[in-house]
Amino acid sequence: MNFQKISLTAGLYFVATPIGTARDITLRALDILASADVIAAEDTRSLRRLMEIHGVPLEGRRILAYHDHSGPAAREKIIQALEQGRSVAYASEAGMPLIADPGYDLGRSVAEKGFPVTCAPGPSAALAALTLAGLPTDAFFFAGFLPNATKARRTRIEALRSIPGTLVFYESPKRVSGCLADLAASLGPERQAALCRELTKKFEEIRRGTLSELAEEFAERTVKGEIVLLVDRARSQAVNDSDIEEALLKALQSHSVRDAADLVSEMFDLPRRPIYQRALSLGNK
Ligand code: SAM
Repeated sequence: MNFQKISLTAGLYFVATPIGTARDITLRALDILASADVIAAEDTRSLRRLMEIHGVPLEGRRILAYHDHSGPAAREKIIQALEQGRSVAYASEAGMPLIADPGYDLGRSVAEKGFPVTCAPGPSAALAALTLAGLPTDAFFFAGFLPNATKARRTRIEALRSIPGTLVFYESPKRVSGCLADLAASLGPERQAALCRELTKKFEEIRRGTLSELAEEFAERTVKGEIVLLVDRARSQAVNDSDIEEALLKALQSHSVRDAADLVSEMFDLPRRPIYQRALSLGNK
């Protein structure tokens, strides 16, 4: 038996479920599913199946269906259970609740009523993709699903152009080629990107390249399954020595050595010290 019955205080327990491989569930998630007084799920059938796979018995508990758009009545049922001193586990169909999935309204309402809200964290496609994409992870921006309509999609991409971190998108296989083409057109063909498909599943695939390379490849390929797209932040274009010298000479006409160095290092996104040394030698000529 992989789980144990634990004593849970009245409160809401968000439970992460696998994004592919059923065994990616955590032991604590199983403990909570085995022990909560009430179980609610985005998709009751898939949670029942997952509990069956792991041998977690329902023991007479019904699984309530809950989406944020199920409305206040469904939320009220959960809040009533909490008011009666019961513990409630809530799971999404796959991955972490709230991450492009329901749970936001529920979590807020429960917290506003003063009940504890906690989480048994686990897999999420965005984090798995960031781990595999080969793009910087020091800062990233989760952009969820892009809009369906081309105009709205381009406007949204445009708004993300200067974000100083890796962009993370969820995408459907039907729309992925159009989306890559729009990303290449709006953000520039040379940005590095990665397409992560079917993570943790049998046909897991990671494709890395520039946006134009990926757009070209997926214009000609029909793909299936679930996809995360990642795009590197904008990089300043390669600059050569003469570009720097020219910019410094121009800046030195109206600025001190110090200010000219600041301006040019910012302009080219380069470290200040070597630019300052260069400005100093040019200023002394
Ligand atoms: N809550 C989930 C999470 O934490 O990742 C996301 C749910 S969202 C409704 C579903 C989207 O997540 C899919 O369309 C896909 O973009 C992405 N996704 C989910 N599972 C995936 C997987 N195994 N491989 C790649 N992408 C996945």
